[in-house]
Amino acid sequence: MLIVMQPRTSEDNIQKVIAFIKEKGFDAHVSNGENQTVIGAVGKKLIDKRDIELLAGVKEVIRISSPYKLVSRVFKPENTIIDVKGIKIGGGHIGMIAGPCTVETYEQMDATAAKLSKAGVKVLRGGAFKPRTSPYAFQGLGEEGLKIMREVADKYDMLVTSEVMEVNQIPMFLKYVDILQVGARNMQNFNLLKSLGEIRKPVLLKRGLSATIEEWLMSAEYIMAGGNREVILCERGIRTFEHIKRNTLDISAIPVVQKISHLPVVVDPSHATGLRDKVAPMSMASIAAGADGLIIEVHNSPETAICDGAQSLYPEQFADLFNELKALANLLKRTF
Ligand code: PEP
Ligand code: MN
Repeated sequence: MLIVMQPRTSEDNIQKVIAFIKEKGFDAHVSNGENQTVIGAVGKKLIDKRDIELLAGVKEVIRISSPYKLVSRVFKPENTIIDVKGIKIGGGHIGMIAGPCTVETYEQMDATAAKLSKAGVKVLRGGAFKPRTSPYAFQGLGEEGLKIMREVADKYDMLVTSEVMEVNQIPMFLKYVDILQVGARNMQNFNLLKSLGEIRKPVLLKRGLSATIEEWLMSAEYIMAGGNREVILCERGIRTFEHIKRNTLDISAIPVVQKISHLPVVVDPSHATGLRDKVAPMSMASIAAGADGLIIEVHNSPETAICDGAQSLYPEQFADLFNELKALANLLKRTF
């Protein structure tokens, strides 16, 4: 941390700042310019930088070291590859996750999964517990939905990912699900993150609606700090002033996060745009930008879908897109 003092501040103020940071467990390295002093505070302790900013004579406090450790490439320089029953995501292996927004019936899941599996998809998505904006909207089938997903996935030799909303649902999820999803609305549910740190199954952590990249990485740090090293980050669009689309897909987050972190970054172009015809271009752009995977909403009958039909692809549309994505990945020397 660098503490930049006001020009020509008194020696007394400088000494008080030094005494303050030493008392907090930091070493002080003082650099005296012609009329300005900068103090380097070096240490491992956590400190609220505002406590220093409030001291007399301080102009600004600049944090140099990052607050995340385990998610960072400093801790682990090589890419993390998540391997779930032989399906790899990260480090050149691109994952494809697809399925409906929500599990509705066995028939719906079966019809959708049959086509997805034929197209080469290995991971099936579907919400059984849905975080809906309105309490009157369909809230999901609950455990029955998870059972349907597991049964259908096993039939087609696929993996299952689904969103867990509460700590007390975790044991139930461990019975049915291969990858536990944390939704955008729960990205900073720290109790949930801590509990997911204790399990030994991968977690797909969606970026919060208005979360900065740093906040998103800190949430991943919560899971990793508990000992669970298998975190997949998911960019799903953020809220901006733009209203034509559901959200604004932050494609630049992919290379930004990949530089800081070793964790795989997948993209959800469905929730990012909310519009079916935008899913293909955003999927292509994401893979071109280096994404380690995609999670795409596909429904066997989008017109009759209980939720998010407008952003769900028809299975045939998805199959065409997947072929194009494979060709693009091939060009980029990566593989699905
Ligand atoms: C979902 O993937 O089903 C979902 C609700 O997405 P998000 O949490 O990104 O809104
Ligand atoms: Mn959805």
